[in-house]
Amino acid sequence: MAEQHGPIILEGVYFDGRSSRDQPATLTVDAQTASLRVAASAGLGLPGTLPFAQSWPARTLGVEAPIPGVRRAITFPGAGRFETRDDAGVSAWERATGRNRALSGVRALESRWWAALAALGVSLAALALFVVYGIPAVARQAALATPRSVLATFDRETIGVLENGDYFGPSKLSAARQKQLKAEFRKVAAWAGGGYPYRLLLRDGEAGGVSELGANAFALPGGTVVMTDQLVALAKSDRELMGVLAHETGHVTNRHGLAGVYQALGLTLVTTVITGDLISAGTFAAAVPAALLSGGYSRAAETQADEASGRYMLRTYGTTRPLQTMLARLEKDDAKDDAKDSQTSTKKSGPSIFDLLSTHPGTPDRIAHLKRIEAEGKPATKR
Ligand SMILES: [Zn+2]
Repeated sequence: MAEQHGPIILEGVYFDGRSSRDQPATLTVDAQTASLRVAASAGLGLPGTLPFAQSWPARTLGVEAPIPGVRRAITFPGAGRFETRDDAGVSAWERATGRNRALSGVRALESRWWAALAALGVSLAALALFVVYGIPAVARQAALATPRSVLATFDRETIGVLENGDYFGPSKLSAARQKQLKAEFRKVAAWAGGGYPYRLLLRDGEAGGVSELGANAFALPGGTVVMTDQLVALAKSDRELMGVLAHETGHVTNRHGLAGVYQALGLTLVTTVITGDLISAGTFAAAVPAALLSGGYSRAAETQADEASGRYMLRTYGTTRPLQTMLARLEKDDAKDDAKDSQTSTKKSGPSIFDLLSTHPGTPDRIAHLKRIEAEGKPATKR
């Protein structure tokens, strides 16, 4: 390396590390020493420190890794940096100080190795967390992140499946009665908020074949709420119905149905939906109804929805009793059906989005909870 014995002169700029202003500077380097000379530039009004010159042992300077298109940077002990476009000069100097370069190379490799190991550790931890808690948690996050436009697609697909299937038929309620219920529901929807395009569909739940819905109500992720004629008939007052519908809007605003779907369909769907790939989301939407209709709500989700309904009823009626009595009556009605008809296995098989059928295991608890909400008078004030 005989040709490297002479000093290398690098022209560039100096930053003192305190201000962002640069100064024209010259860095003269050889294998042992680096000398910086910062020119006095007139009119900059800097304190009387310029011009100045300083030297360091070459090994105490740092050379930052080259980034294409960016000036090479050399850092000084303490503070300050020198930047130059003379990449060839800096590289020549790096070669001349071969010992240092090898050392920094090892350091870089070492730190990269640790970084890689750390990254691997983080990935493994994330994987472990994912396996243990992950799918429900990710599903919940995904549910929260899903754009409303995608939710509307899910609603449409699901209603299509229900309409073409054996689930329900057109409502037999009079037009006036339907109008009245929809007007009432609009108040619930306005209260529930969240920017969803809520709509109430009234349907005959006994028009279908095997999979009759009976007295029921359920919500789809995008804000479509379905209520059957049979539920309307079972209610002794519209307050009871609105208590149920407020409960359904609680499932919408908390995105309960969607979390279940994501959990069932897995992560491919999740990523597609979050990245807003609407075309793929449309394809996946075809798989959503089945997942949605076969999935159920957790007890925690039911509690949350009851919480929402409790708030609505307290604010609107001053009591949570309408939903309490409705739940009790539904349970009785369901028990009667069970005794009368043992072949309705489809609607008795565990939790389902067909909300009210899934409630009976927890009905006493839910009623107690609603009583507690009322006793605490919790959110008696408007939000
Ligand atoms: Zn529910």
